[in-house]
Amino acid sequence: MNKKEFQEFFDKNKGKFISGIYNYCDRWCERCNFTSKCSSYAMEEQRGNKTDDENEGFISQVSENIKIAMEMLLEMAQEKGIDLNAIDNEVDEKEEQLEELAKNHPLAKQSMDYSTLVRKWFDENETSLEKITQEINQSIQLGTANEETINEFDSIKDALEVIRWYCFQIHVKLMRALRHDEPDLDFEDPIQNDANGSAKVALIGTERSLGAWGLLHRQLPEQEDEILNILLVLDKIRKEVFKVFPDVNAFIRPGFDE
Ligand code: SF4
Repeated sequence: MNKKEFQEFFDKNKGKFISGIYNYCDRWCERCNFTSKCSSYAMEEQRGNKTDDENEGFISQVSENIKIAMEMLLEMAQEKGIDLNAIDNEVDEKEEQLEELAKNHPLAKQSMDYSTLVRKWFDENETSLEKITQEINQSIQLGTANEETINEFDSIKDALEVIRWYCFQIHVKLMRALRHDEPDLDFEDPIQNDANGSAKVALIGTERSLGAWGLLHRQLPEQEDEILNILLVLDKIRKEVFKVFPDVNAFIRPGFDE
């Protein structure tokens, strides 16, 4: 997609999309009810319909546009006597400090521990999960599985998908939320800001994962101890999110919460 096609795409779809909806979603497009309202989804689809050569053309066009924009910025800064390098250094330093604070925050550590526990659980149980899947698939094919068994199997499969989807995203979104300084009220809204929005996405992933592990806890009683341990970590994350981001649930995600 070149610059002209890009503009035509937006003109053609004016009013169709919800502005910024993709900023605070969980990126699970397969399960999203807003695909027809999301410009990111539409552009991905459009790009998916292109050949590799056409996509490469789009990428080099974007790089060219960035180069032109940077040259313009440099010219403007020189005219106004602004030292962009000094600003860059200040920003870099500030970002490094915030990154360090975020990395050492209890929420970052808890969510990283959660990802590690989940990865370990899947590694240790991969064989038995595959065995369950094979057995149920076989009995479905033979017509010997009753409805209750099929439903139980579907719910376990769904719970596993949910856990896999959010297990790293929770940490990534919390890190993004924690990297923010106190909101600058001259420029930012005390509630509708990126820290609260990112924390809300992490919170939703945490709560859905809690529900999924709760289901596995009922369906896989032999896993009780391991799953209880994981549930405890998730519950800690949930409580800590409310403590660190008390307005998290007041944040309105475009489209989803309106
Ligand atoms: S809003 Fe929905 S369709 Fe758009 S990127 Fe997010 S999950 Fe995908």
